[in-house]
Amino acid sequence: MSESSVKVKSNTEGLVFDIQRYSIHDGPGIRSIVFFKGCPLKCKWCSNPESQSSNIQLFHSHNRCKLCGRCVEMCPKNALTITNNEINIDRNLCDLCGACIDVCLYNNWRNVGKWYTVKEIMRELLKDEKFFVTSGGGITISGGEPFQQKKFLKELLEECNNMCLNTAVETCGYVNTSALKNTLPFIDILLMDLKHMNEKKHLEWTGVSNKLILKNWEVAASNCKNTICRIPVLNGFNNTESEIKEILNFIASVGIKEAHFIQYHRMGEGKYKSLGLEYMYDNIPVPTYKQIEKYLKIAEGIGLKAQIGG
Ligand code: SF4
Ligand code: SF4
Repeated sequence: MSESSVKVKSNTEGLVFDIQRYSIHDGPGIRSIVFFKGCPLKCKWCSNPESQSSNIQLFHSHNRCKLCGRCVEMCPKNALTITNNEINIDRNLCDLCGACIDVCLYNNWRNVGKWYTVKEIMRELLKDEKFFVTSGGGITISGGEPFQQKKFLKELLEECNNMCLNTAVETCGYVNTSALKNTLPFIDILLMDLKHMNEKKHLEWTGVSNKLILKNWEVAASNCKNTICRIPVLNGFNNTESEIKEILNFIASVGIKEAHFIQYHRMGEGKYKSLGLEYMYDNIPVPTYKQIEKYLKIAEGIGLKAQIGG
């Protein structure tokens, strides 16, 4: 189906912060990944801090700033100042008017987040339809937490199903259980996180209890055959054999067959400052490949298919 012949009825809108094309991660084949904005968790290590807020946010590439002062002069809300040799933003004054974006000669400003209708997203996605077909790929919906915009998610997945596009959804699992159940029929691959089995530790590091997540694991395992567990491995949080074993034993007990270990990385660190946020996982070493290899063996030992990344 060509993108010009897309016949999508839904005008439901959703807030998206990125559409990544030609990805070979997050599902089989060549995929386009749609990143929804908004997440109920506040993981200390999050590498996509721009995904957490459900609002559009002003992003400043401070590393490239020449401190020319043009944006400061042009800001109608006087939200910008230069102090200590850097631009400071009073986000309570900023109304996202975009004047700073227009005036910077170095493209140092942008708004993160854009409203799309289901129809507009489908138009974008179908530009790469031939790659999906030839590679066995498809569409992955990520975030943020896709179920935060459950109506938009379901309608988008329904349209992908109508057009025979393979669908994968990445979720933290902290989602409305009936929304999960109602949406699973439109999901080919569910990539669901399980970060920790200890409720107190889960709450401390992510901001939420794991009770709902564990309940949803049982729902996902019995309603979606292709549910894969993603375990982010983080020093100081869950990087011990006993903690990982607990997770693996639980997922095996509910009937899951595959686990992916996600090695924590620091690539998102610089984005915190650009969004006016504080990075909470500073000075903690990244887990080594060797450490995670041990977990692969443990997973395989209890009959799970396992890999690093993906
Ligand atoms: S206009 Fe651009 S380069 Fe100049 S101070 Fe503002 S952000 Fe920096
Ligand atoms: S978006 Fe508008 S109000 Fe906000 S800092 Fe830029 S110029 Fe000022």
